[in-house]
Amino acid sequence: MSKSNTEALNTFLAQRFPHESEYLQATSEVLTDIMPIYNANATYKHYDIVRRLCLPERIIYFTVSWMNSHGEVEVNQGWRVQHNSVMGPYKGGLRFHPSVNLTILKFLAFEQTFKNALTGLPMGGGKGGSDFNPKGRSDHDIMLFCQSFMRELQRHIGAQTDVPAGDINVGAREIGFLYGEYRRLNNRFEGVLTGKGLEFGGSYVRTEATGFGLVYFLEAVCKAHNTDIEGQRIAISGAGNVALHAALKAKQKGAIVVTLSNSKGTLACTSGFHESDIQWAIHNHTMESNVLTALCQQSERNMQWHKAQTPWSEEVDIALPCATQNELNHSDAESLIHSGCKMVLEGANMPCTERAQQAFKKAKVVFVPGKASNAGGVALSGLEMAQNAVFSQDDANTLDAQLKTIMQNIHYRCEQEGTSDTGIDYAKGANVAAFRRVADAMVAQGV
Ligand code: GLU
Repeated sequence: MSKSNTEALNTFLAQRFPHESEYLQATSEVLTDIMPIYNANATYKHYDIVRRLCLPERIIYFTVSWMNSHGEVEVNQGWRVQHNSVMGPYKGGLRFHPSVNLTILKFLAFEQTFKNALTGLPMGGGKGGSDFNPKGRSDHDIMLFCQSFMRELQRHIGAQTDVPAGDINVGAREIGFLYGEYRRLNNRFEGVLTGKGLEFGGSYVRTEATGFGLVYFLEAVCKAHNTDIEGQRIAISGAGNVALHAALKAKQKGAIVVTLSNSKGTLACTSGFHESDIQWAIHNHTMESNVLTALCQQSERNMQWHKAQTPWSEEVDIALPCATQNELNHSDAESLIHSGCKMVLEGANMPCTERAQQAFKKAKVVFVPGKASNAGGVALSGLEMAQNAVFSQDDANTLDAQLKTIMQNIHYRCEQEGTSDTGIDYAKGANVAAFRRVADAMVAQGV
């Protein structure tokens, strides 16, 4: 029964959204894990929870027509997917990238709902963005685009309704421009965006939170498997905010971080990056420059730049994919397994393909999905919302300690729902724990 139900739901979604591969991948992964719980609960079934949970509550589309600094008119597309609001205001990032389309945002908003549920904070799930490509643009063009984007988006968001944040290519600079336009149009201060500057309602530790949280989760995984992060060789992909802060925290905990990467290649340092290398990259990385090749040139350490290669052929104990969705495929997984990798924790959203995940499962490699291990960013966003609501600003130590506790609690929830004779299935644990929380809230609030 449970199997045919899963198939029926997959078919229902596939028929309605035949070309939305990322969205169908995300829903089908979750459905497999949650159907037994759903089928065993007559109330969930009565309320048709799964079908309602798979479909976004609202999708907002708008055209962003704007004039660039050369006086030319440009036209981009913008979206906000308001997936689920039973737990609190829609919450999730904005992504600016030419690959952004509705199916990617629907998959990200769906995942975000589960991720936010795991944090235990009152946040629903959403995601938005634009196909605007900020690469190669002047600050002025970025500002003009952000202002036009916000002029359309502002009527759909608010501190109590929908609170966007950053994601790929949307960092402190963009959030500042977006926030400024919202404030000017609405003439009030409110916590309508997170990731703001510290001078206007931002939170300490927000920038570091996703990467630091990933390593706090890794520590909990190590503890549950009677091992320690110290001395472990770690491959990290990406060179953005998440990757660099994960590298920094891992290094501070005594791990040996041997790679960082970007779309052009991988920087490898077999003896491990020093903290000063990572700090240098954090302070010098911009959207435009290749901070990794620059680091390779200026560091005293022996580093190699592997053009057009990913980090997954390195011999490591742990892999932390922190770049983008589906960046680690089946053959990458096989090569990691072959070289003895024992744990894979997603720092990005769904960076491992379905087949890569299956290979890890078969080889008994511990696999943690992003909705659990990268939840630190949105968790700190939740803390930023709380600070904004009472017009206060907590200190960095307090927030770091709260972040650590939240990540440990998420680990506990995954362990509780995902443990069997064969060990901890983190994907199942995360899906089931998040599902129960959202489903219970939906039942409590009626149809
Ligand atoms: N973009 C981040 C994520 O994928 C953070 C979202 C937020 O802080 O709202 O979780």
